Amino acid sequence: MDWEIVMGLEVHVELATKTKIFCSCTTEFGGAPNTHCCPVCTGMPGTLPVLNKKVLEYAVRAGLALNCEINRYNKFDRKNYFYPDLPKAYQISQLYLPFAHDGKVKLDVLDENGENVVIGIHEIHMEEDAGKLIHSKTRNQSYPDYNRCGVPLIEIVSEPDFRRSEEVIAYLNKLRSTLEYLGISDCKMEEGSMRADVNLSVRKKGSKEFGTRTEMKNINSLKAIERAIAYEAKRQIELIESGGEVVQETRRWDENRDKTFSMRSKENANDYRYFPEPDIPPISITEDEISYYNSIRPEFAEEKAARYQTEFGLTKKDAEIIVSSKYLAKLFEDTTAKCGDASEVRYWMMSQVLYFMNERGVQPENITLSADKFAQFIEIVKAGRINRQIGKTVFENMFFGDENFDVETYIKENDLEQVDDGALISETVKKVIAENPKAVGQFKSGQKKIVGFFIGQVMKTLGGKANPGVVGKAVNEELEKL
Ligand code: ADP
Ligand code: MG
Ligand code: ZN
Repeated sequence: MDWEIVMGLEVHVELATKTKIFCSCTTEFGGAPNTHCCPVCTGMPGTLPVLNKKVLEYAVRAGLALNCEINRYNKFDRKNYFYPDLPKAYQISQLYLPFAHDGKVKLDVLDENGENVVIGIHEIHMEEDAGKLIHSKTRNQSYPDYNRCGVPLIEIVSEPDFRRSEEVIAYLNKLRSTLEYLGISDCKMEEGSMRADVNLSVRKKGSKEFGTRTEMKNINSLKAIERAIAYEAKRQIELIESGGEVVQETRRWDENRDKTFSMRSKENANDYRYFPEPDIPPISITEDEISYYNSIRPEFAEEKAARYQTEFGLTKKDAEIIVSSKYLAKLFEDTTAKCGDASEVRYWMMSQVLYFMNERGVQPENITLSADKFAQFIEIVKAGRINRQIGKTVFENMFFGDENFDVETYIKENDLEQVDDGALISETVKKVIAENPKAVGQFKSGQKKIVGFFIGQVMKTLGGKANPGVVGKAVNEELEKL
């Protein structure tokens, strides 16, 4: 029997405002437990929440970027539930009139008709985050830390439009990239600033009805999401095929055991006794605000990648890699503007920077190399003052060096200037030929590949600093004379 997977995502994103959504406490991550709170975010009686203007701005800009309709009139509601990480015993959220609805996100993934998959966004609402519980095994006790209470969130609720995990991953990457370019969130799944709940059901192919869904929480990486989807889809299919029924429930993904476990049966909206938040007046958003936000909309990844191909002649693949992070894109653009040679910048980014990211776990946002230094380095390479091989060593030291690293000084102190001296090179070539009679024999018997060996030996003798073009020419000339 052919089964189809149906998924919808609820994605919580922490907004990168300096202060919390309804008070002026800092949103800074960490800090000693319960030091980033006040009577408002801990819900003391008699306190009144006041909406942070920046939160509304960031939220609306996210909504516009995700092609949503913005509700010019929207409101907050109370979602009541008791849990020790929520001192107020309710969360201020938006149920009846969220600020954004009916958006869409076009993915880079194609469907079976060769069209781009488009995911509908049902709605986006603003809400406050809850605190955290720290569980002590040794004392068998739990300690609440309210620092995260009141950190601003938007929750992006998709339509049940996903059919494959590939689409889910592409969607999450697109959300991350869009919000990162907007500068309104850093969207780090590993640190919890972007958290995805996956709702999943299965149905027989061709069926119009949806099956009963489960909701998976607690998945904190893209890899884990892929595994959780595969596991949960298989579990539901096997359950139905063996005559069982899927129960609507919330399941927890256990990273260590590679399985989902039932957490609780799924609650419905009415279990939360939602009612309009009486302490916050309704919000209105003006046309002027909307047009202003549209006017400061940044260039997003897709547009940037297209421009890099036409303006700088990059391949689609290279362009996509560079624009995958706004920090990489900025380094590329700023350096190109300074040195005027996009293809050189591309070369060093794709060969070196990408290597450091993949092999040494460098995160693009942590790159400290300035466009100034990068451009200066490229000028030096282009002027032939160091060769490309030596350039790699210099680049690596510059990339990981501190702000005091100076390319010129480094080259001078380590004596790395390229050797162009024709006399010295030809003398070295003769010496290497004289020292390797066996290789000379191989060359004479027609093994032309041995030329590479001579070039290598000459380069080595000259400390890797010689001009490879000059060396190659000299080696070939000497060998031809034999
Ligand atoms: P709740 O807020 O109670 O979790 P919603 O109706 O808002 O419920 O849906 C949450 C998410 O579940 C949405 O992203 C929606 O697309 C998705 N969803 C709804 N029904 C199904 C289904 N049958 N299979 C898969 N996903 C579903
Ligand atoms: Mg849900
Ligand atoms: Zn506070």
